[in-house]
Amino acid sequence: MNNTDFSSLGLHVDLVKNILSLGYSKMTPIQAQTLPDILKGSDVIGEGKTGSGKTAAFSLGILNKLDVKNFRIQSLVLCPTRELADQVASEVRKIGRTIHNIKVLSLCGGAPFGPQKGSLKHGAHIIVGTPGCILEHINKGNLALSYVSMFVLDEADRMLDMGFQPAVSSIVKHLPTNRQTLLFTATFSDDATVISSKIMKDPKIIRA
Ligand code: ADP
Ligand code: MG
Repeated sequence: MNNTDFSSLGLHVDLVKNILSLGYSKMTPIQAQTLPDILKGSDVIGEGKTGSGKTAAFSLGILNKLDVKNFRIQSLVLCPTRELADQVASEVRKIGRTIHNIKVLSLCGGAPFGPQKGSLKHGAHIIVGTPGCILEHINKGNLALSYVSMFVLDEADRMLDMGFQPAVSSIVKHLPTNRQTLLFTATFSDDATVISSKIMKDPKIIRA
């Protein structure tokens, strides 16, 4: 139970090798407490302060589940800002760099829409973006999410503070109901409780 070795999780061997090569020698507490349930396929709410390693926790969940030969959008990660989405996309790419042909796409406002649309035409396995931008691509018919099996809300408290709750709810309507949903946050507020009860199934709540 208290094992903090990445090798104790039953992750794909290449993921473990790569994470060790990145200098992540032990799991942080939030990783050690959430990853067993994430890898089992449960919905998980993870509360942990900034810098506790939440990104790698859900990135490993996404990447371990990914079927790279199936070139469809399998995971969607929502972040409150473009800066955070870019950070998450780069962490996912770093942790997934041993997976041949993996495609991670970041979709955020402020970046030109046309090239994003073009990138979507070429396809991706994992999309990371801000709610407004993701919703715009859905509404314009650029983004189909019917093969998403993993949905992540990162920095959920900030996303709700910024008024993204209606956009998140609209996006969820386009996702398969048969999916895994993860929610990460620095503080688990009442608003987060309300949204999680609407979009998650019997989530395991973990406070690190
Ligand atoms: P959070 O999202 O919880 O605020 P991050 O996921 O951004 O935190 O992680 C903070 C930093 O810790 C990042 O620079 C990341 O590379 C590093 N990190 C994550 N997990 C580990 C680990 N197991 N060992 C060492 N460093 C880690
Ligand atoms: Mg974070």
